[in-house]
Amino acid sequence: MRLVVDLNRCQGYAQCAFLAPDVFAMHGDEALLYNPHADDTQREHVRRAVAACPVQAILVEGLDETVGAAAASVEGMAP
Ligand code: SF4
Repeated sequence: MRLVVDLNRCQGYAQCAFLAPDVFAMHGDEALLYNPHADDTQREHVRRAVAACPVQAILVEGLDETVGAAAASVEGMAP
């Protein structure tokens, strides 16, 4: 799957790094590192990270329809 984190939106809350540590990692206090081509075996972890992100900064292609719709609405809200 492909994923993108909107780093302008991300506040470094690290919920994603906690829920999907093989995909997201915090570097220092606020910088987020992530794998934009996360393996499909990480799908469930990524799904939880997307749901837990307090600012909906994680956008995922090919996760599932529900999250895809949520991501689309987030994109629609972007300035
Ligand atoms: S959970 Fe959201 S705000 Fe927190 S580090 Fe991850 S992407 Fe950023």
